Amino acid sequence: MQKIDLHSHTLVSDGSLSPIELVARAKEQCVEILSITDHDTVAAYEQLTDLEGDLTIIPGIEFSTQWRGVGVHIVGLNLDLSSEAIQQGVAQQEQSRRDRSVLIGQRLIKAGFPVDMARVAEIANHSNIGRPHFAQHLVELGVVKNVAVAFKKYLGNGKIGDVKQCWAELPQIVSWIVDSGGTAVLAHPLKYKMTRTKLAMLLDDFIVAGGRAMEVVSGQQCATEVESLVRLCQQKGLLGSCGSDFHQPSQWSEIGSMSAFPGNCSPVWENW
Ligand code: AMP
Ligand code: MN
Ligand code: MN
Ligand code: MN
Repeated sequence: MQKIDLHSHTLVSDGSLSPIELVARAKEQCVEILSITDHDTVAAYEQLTDLEGDLTIIPGIEFSTQWRGVGVHIVGLNLDLSSEAIQQGVAQQEQSRRDRSVLIGQRLIKAGFPVDMARVAEIANHSNIGRPHFAQHLVELGVVKNVAVAFKKYLGNGKIGDVKQCWAELPQIVSWIVDSGGTAVLAHPLKYKMTRTKLAMLLDDFIVAGGRAMEVVSGQQCATEVESLVRLCQQKGLLGSCGSDFHQPSQWSEIGSMSAFPGNCSPVWENW
């Protein structure tokens, strides 16, 4: 069975490996089709000049947005990276991320923590700053004992450092993806902890906007979770995608490592 991983991160967002290291690791893990989907940036692809070889690389991204107050991620796959739509979208989201990082820093300082923005930028390799970089900084400041606690107390959903009002709206994000020839995929649907009804409503809005697929496999999931996502895919006429959401070695899923793709679901890569 082909090993296909359509969701992964490098150090141009909140992963730990360089794009070249990630590709090497994917090859070691026998991945045959890979997409690097960094948060709101495609900068990894500038560092990969040779996209040929025994590993097929599908240009991708993971955009941040919000829907009815919930932070939602949309993966764009098979993009034409030279298209104006994607370049404009990325530029806007990167600016939003910069503005947001200032706001998160101010909020944490107001809460009494001696946050040093220059240090946060350094932790982020002077690339896109995200909440995980603030989390690492809070750990080194001794405010919390680990990243998980930093999210639980200060950066997770609804906490002071959770700023999500800055992102482009869902239809805008989907149109950037579609206008650059790509396929819009709802990322990790179970992470939003929505009721089934609410998730179906999100999918309806996503489909109206031009969304075509949903991750039915995100890292390791139990069989009943996969089955329920496949049913939802079928009900809504969506294609299925899969990815590890790899960020770094020894954290969450390994690159190329996830539950098996279900046989009764049309794969997003079928018509590429
Ligand atoms: P941001 O892109 O700044 O909104 O940060 C979101 C990222 O934070 C996700 O893609 C994860 O990599 C990470 N993250 C979210 N929740 C947690 C958590 N509870 N513990 C550790 N990392 C998390
Ligand atoms: Mn991440
Ligand atoms: Mn995500
Ligand atoms: Mn991700």
